[in-house]
Amino acid sequence: MTTPPLPREPLPLEPLPLEPLREDWERALCVVAHPDDLEFGGAAAVARWTGQGKQVVYCMVTSGEAGIDGLHPDECRTVREAEQVESARVVGVTTVDFLRLPDGVLEYGVPLRRAIAAEVRRHRPEVVLTNNFRDTFGGSNLNQADHIATGRATLDAVRDAGNRWVFPDQLVGDLEPWGGVSEVWAAGSPEARHGVDVTDTFEAGVASLRAHAAYLDGLGWEGFDPAEFLEGLGRQVGQRMGVALATAFERFPLGWGG
Ligand SMILES: [Zn+2]
Repeated sequence: MTTPPLPREPLPLEPLPLEPLREDWERALCVVAHPDDLEFGGAAAVARWTGQGKQVVYCMVTSGEAGIDGLHPDECRTVREAEQVESARVVGVTTVDFLRLPDGVLEYGVPLRRAIAAEVRRHRPEVVLTNNFRDTFGGSNLNQADHIATGRATLDAVRDAGNRWVFPDQLVGDLEPWGGVSEVWAAGSPEARHGVDVTDTFEAGVASLRAHAAYLDGLGWEGFDPAEFLEGLGRQVGQRMGVALATAFERFPLGWGG
């Protein structure tokens, strides 16, 4: 009788299955720190929803003007805003707001909540998307400070928006409190338990990432191919939903018992 060899390393944990996100809504607002944040996975889901006739609006907290090493922010801002507008267009999004807060040095706090709450009051979405705001993207892949500030502020701002006594100076003219956001979804979170089947809209997602050509060039990632990268990611997530390609979200229900 022989003794079975001990495994050299722990067996990887089976990834948890993902539940589909709800689709019984009409209006979504996506609030992210930088142009390109939605395009590393989330945009294919946006293409699916706009294809269903839903209205999706993008809000960029910064213009990503500190994102290209060889280009001064004054020039970079114009380039990146134009790339984001095109990137939105290819997934059916025609409204892109730029809050023009400073790239790289965003701070979580009342001013950021105020700016995002105004967007929520203006667009009156039922669901709000944001970027992953956990400390990492999984393992030791550290998240970035602007993403963490933006996601946390977004989660708070959707509740601020519903309270008429918070930022009351915004409530002039037609602008009313808006407490109609039922869920916030953070794209690419390592804590994701939900997903969206993007098998049919994957190509639009790739086109939206390719629209960030100057930014991707500036990164200088040798041999980076948007299609290959997004497909690798999409297949992994797809396995957790039993579909070919999917994108993952962490879901934060608002109110009690959601
Ligand atoms: Zn970013």
